[in-house]
Amino acid sequence: MPELPEVETVRRMLEAHVVGRRIRAVKLSGLGLRGGESPRSVPRRVKDRRIEKLERHGKYLLIGLSDGITLLSHLGMSGRWLFHTEPPGRAPKHVHVRIAFDDGTELWFEDPRRFGMLRAVETAKRYDDPALAILGPDPLANAPDPEALATAARGLKVAIKNFLLDQKRIAGVGNIYASEVLHRALVDPRRRAGTIDSAEWKTIADEIVAVLGEAVDRMGTTFSMYRTLWNEPGQYGERLLVYDRAGEPCRRCGGPVRRIVQGQRSTYFCPKCQSRAKTERIPHKTAAPRSKNRSRNPLPRGRRTPTL
Ligand SMILES: [Zn+2]
Repeated sequence: MPELPEVETVRRMLEAHVVGRRIRAVKLSGLGLRGGESPRSVPRRVKDRRIEKLERHGKYLLIGLSDGITLLSHLGMSGRWLFHTEPPGRAPKHVHVRIAFDDGTELWFEDPRRFGMLRAVETAKRYDDPALAILGPDPLANAPDPEALATAARGLKVAIKNFLLDQKRIAGVGNIYASEVLHRALVDPRRRAGTIDSAEWKTIADEIVAVLGEAVDRMGTTFSMYRTLWNEPGQYGERLLVYDRAGEPCRRCGGPVRRIVQGQRSTYFCPKCQSRAKTERIPHKTAAPRSKNRSRNPLPRGRRTPTL
């Protein structure tokens, strides 16, 4: 599922390629997206407006249009925005929104599993939309405050991994990067959030910024559906330390990476480096051994409502 770095990659590309273009028409597939919600009011509300700016909060993309309208977009599990300078006449089956610009270029929203979202809202009231109103701060716009996290977690029994996935706490961290952050911070993902001490919160907050920033630099991570605006996969997958590496050697200690399930989602960690007891920090090994038969299929199957 696309997380903050993947959405930020799409935002940057849209900013570079669609700002300034005027919308001539929008065609819909007619199928509902997340929760069955149909973007049917979108064509009427965005017609003849120019794209002015691209914002992002957590995993949400905010496409600001002229005259006070914003398109609020979420990629869900399998959504992607694709830009065509010479659009083919017919769109593939899973293209649900086709935005045609007056210069002949087109922007498509493709989403096979239809957990994505597209909604036209008033720009002045965009953060009042229920989807955005519940979100915590964006960790790239405002670096997470370790003291605020510690205060929020005080007394909580929820596992630290699930705390990090809660979009009300921090917007944008998802399953891939939560495992990576906790591995780099040497914190056991099963620990109760209320037992994390202030030094550990500081490390976790620092690693959130570092991991997300490095992933943005490499255009995110692709497991199945996510693509950049030009239909390219992200490049961060080769940098992952634990995610999707069950049974493979930990890049830090050489012991096997373990997969467990928390809140119906896979968590990957090194039981030795991330022991419940505190561990002295030592640097990561530089030359990482790679297995020949990597599983590329980390997500459970089935039409399950994801944590958005
Ligand atoms: Zn290890």
